[in-house]
Amino acid sequence: MYKMSKELYYEQKHISDIICDEEKAAAAEYSKGYMAFLDNGKTERECVSYAIELAKANGFVEYAPGMEVVPGAKFYRNNRDKALVLAVIGTEKLDRGCNIAGAHIDSPRLDLKQNPLYEDSEMALFKTHYYGGIKKYQWVTLPLALHGVVIKKDGTKVVINIGEDETDPVFVVTDLLPHLGADQNKKSLGEAFTGENLNILVGSTPVSGEGASRMKDLVLQMLNEKYGIVEEDFLSAEIEAVPAGKARYTGFDRSLITAYGHDDRSCSYAELKAIFDIDTPVKTAVCILSDKEEVGSDGVSGMQSADFEYFMEELCDAQGVKLRHCFANSFCLSADVCNAFDPNFPEVSEKRNNGKINYGIALMKYTGARGKSGSSDASPEIIAMLRRQFGEAEVVWQMAALGKVDQGGGGTIAKFMANRNIDTIDAGIPVLSMHAPFETVSVYDCYMTYKGVKAVYGIK
Ligand code: MN
Ligand code: MN
Repeated sequence: MYKMSKELYYEQKHISDIICDEEKAAAAEYSKGYMAFLDNGKTERECVSYAIELAKANGFVEYAPGMEVVPGAKFYRNNRDKALVLAVIGTEKLDRGCNIAGAHIDSPRLDLKQNPLYEDSEMALFKTHYYGGIKKYQWVTLPLALHGVVIKKDGTKVVINIGEDETDPVFVVTDLLPHLGADQNKKSLGEAFTGENLNILVGSTPVSGEGASRMKDLVLQMLNEKYGIVEEDFLSAEIEAVPAGKARYTGFDRSLITAYGHDDRSCSYAELKAIFDIDTPVKTAVCILSDKEEVGSDGVSGMQSADFEYFMEELCDAQGVKLRHCFANSFCLSADVCNAFDPNFPEVSEKRNNGKINYGIALMKYTGARGKSGSSDASPEIIAMLRRQFGEAEVVWQMAALGKVDQGGGGTIAKFMANRNIDTIDAGIPVLSMHAPFETVSVYDCYMTYKGVKAVYGIK
């Protein structure tokens, strides 16, 4: 008689069927802190300043050369207000390696151009240049808030944050009415909306009297009154238009969160909370919140920047060890989101291997496109080590791949960490509607990613 050998099969379970009520409550509690992080950090700069605030409250100090790098010391390194690295020094010296978790705090958005303000047909508008991979049609007829900084010629910084408070006005990119959409409807999704047409409506009242650009004039007057800036100051400004509004629970059961920027603030917060919650680790724990991931991790604040080496080398020098020994013995969890299987679009995913919501932190052996191009392919030795580590720490996890082969692809900071001779694997939270103005994740997956990062910080 044939009997199914169940113990030979790999079977996955929904998180709800695995974790106890106490943990379910902990996940709900965790989500509150995460949603506050989302609401306080809608740009990389805001994430850095909020994370520093939290870090200080948790005993972290800004590292300065000459400080003692001893077990239990908690440091942060602020890279130009746009990227942040935190470290808790372990009991073992740094040449034994670190446990690193690296996420990114930049998200797709519409950046204002350097000369943004103009008037057309008695309306005042801002020119934009989109940042990261967006589906342009999603960014029209959506309330937008403006976040950013203006650095005046004398170096003083003006912080802009308008559109989030319920009493604030919002801004919008208009769209064509369907009644006149005959030609637009014939175009493909990618062609119907152009980057150059994503112009933001910012005003429509003229200043009184005669003049050629009376609506623009009024906007300039109001900006001058509120922020003390003139048009030329836009040249040295970095202002981002992001979806207005707060993070919200989703579903009757509140099991999901819909918000702007889960990619990759869901993993960023998991790392932060994890590094705040650990005791002095054996190996030094490092938390990276990087910038520019959505555009290739280039530039001075991206993960390819030498600023990371600069900070890590400072720490190594203070202990009299070599940075290259530290990196060679380190491990990095590249904490970034992946796509969640979406029943509305089953055709792009291969169900056996796609990430699913509510199945925990998703490990990705590789990312890339086509024949794994541009990917850092993690070794099975590393995966086996994590299987043990996650098992001991009771982390619910799954293995995931980004959609069907040949359907597309993506990348993370993983390869830039691996290029530094650091064993690296991707892992993160499955997201629905990734890169849309509002993305959706599961509360349990967020919590499990926090537990996963904490487990990584415990690797000996
Ligand atoms: Mn990402
Ligand atoms: Mn992304």
